[in-house]
Amino acid sequence: MGWNLSRHGAEVVLIDAGHPGEGVTNWSFSWVNASNKTERRSYFDLNVAGMAACRELAEAIGPDSWWYPDGHLRWAEDLAAEAKLLQTAELLAAWGYRVEVRTGAEVRRRLEPALEVPDQVPVVFYPDEAWVHGRHLVGRLVGQAAELGAVCRFGIAVSGIGIGADGSIRTVALSDGSSLDVDVVVNAAGPDASQVAGLIARHLPTRREPGVITRLGCDRVPVHRAMHAPHIEIRPDGDDSVVLHSREVDALIDTGKDPAELGRLLHESARRVVPELGNARIAATRVADRPIPGDGFPSVGAVPSVPGYYEAVSHSAITLGPVIGRLLASEILGGSTDAMLTDFRPERFPQ
Ligand SMILES: Cc1cc2nc3c(=O)[nH]c(=O)nc-3n(C[C@H](O)[C@H](O)[C@H](O)COP(=O)(O)OP(=O)(O)OC[C@H]3O[C@@H](n4cnc5c(N)ncnc54)[C@H](O)[C@@H]3O)c2cc1C
Repeated sequence: MGWNLSRHGAEVVLIDAGHPGEGVTNWSFSWVNASNKTERRSYFDLNVAGMAACRELAEAIGPDSWWYPDGHLRWAEDLAAEAKLLQTAELLAAWGYRVEVRTGAEVRRRLEPALEVPDQVPVVFYPDEAWVHGRHLVGRLVGQAAELGAVCRFGIAVSGIGIGADGSIRTVALSDGSSLDVDVVVNAAGPDASQVAGLIARHLPTRREPGVITRLGCDRVPVHRAMHAPHIEIRPDGDDSVVLHSREVDALIDTGKDPAELGRLLHESARRVVPELGNARIAATRVADRPIPGDGFPSVGAVPSVPGYYEAVSHSAITLGPVIGRLLASEILGGSTDAMLTDFRPERFPQ
């Protein structure tokens, strides 16, 4: 968002209570996809646009160290889950999404030699999907925005938002006691977005859905792309690291289990799929909150009752961040709203 506004000549101040890219963005599975977004056609289309915007961003700022467009693999263990996976693949193909069904043997031979996957099991390959190193991407965008003149105020929280007599945004108060005169505020505070919305007495309902991510350190990364295996999701995370996630393990967060124990469960599942990961060591495990508006869909755009206040709050914002950033910047600067965002406007959550 800040990068988009800066390159179009806006005066931008980037404010982060911590450091940009080190929030949930750094503790994400970071899979760029639309194949997991079939619940609503408009949401699927927005995610397809998100994938295209990621590719365009890689061309604009360079892909190195953050953009890994090597596709995605997914397979199932039991027949019911397999039938559902293949049915989804058929729907996606009918919607024009690139999908290939291979066998386990073929995948091992051509794509991922280190996998334990039965020879005959169907494996769905989505060639246009990718993963992103979120912290590196955000670092690159912040660096370029700063070169374009954006002011960076990091380690300082927004503690108040001032509204003028006409009801529009006027000032932002910061935790160091300073204050800024502004025309526009974009609330992109991720899991803390409802607190920031509360500063203008707006109720942004959010859903609590924490997830647990484990990073493994390894001498050699034995996988080349992101994948959903039964019980475990695995992706590379650079030259000497692998990231693990599982919705099944997320479901244990509220049982009071120690995150270190959750990390061990993830590692155990991963070594069953990629035996070589048995030699890897757990480097870090973190539980992070997903930023999810109450109905599960993004909240993007102006809040008409408070002129100058905008939201950019979304789950799947690794996939959606680049398209949301582009569309919202053009809404802020040009005043027009893109039809792609119609189902995701903030005013569906009334004041
Ligand atoms: C386990 C897990 C797996 C996921 N997997 C995927 C996936 O595979 N694909 C995908 O697309 N998405 C995935 N997501 C979701 C994705 O990670 C998030 O949607 C995305 O990272 C949100 O980015 P953000 O910038 O909104 O939030 P953040 O990265 O958290 O950034 C928000 C920033 O706001 C700052 N902030 C908060 N309050 C204030 C304040 N008052 N003043 C100033 N600054 C403030 C914070 O310091 C933080 O740096 C996953 C999430 C989780 C938890």
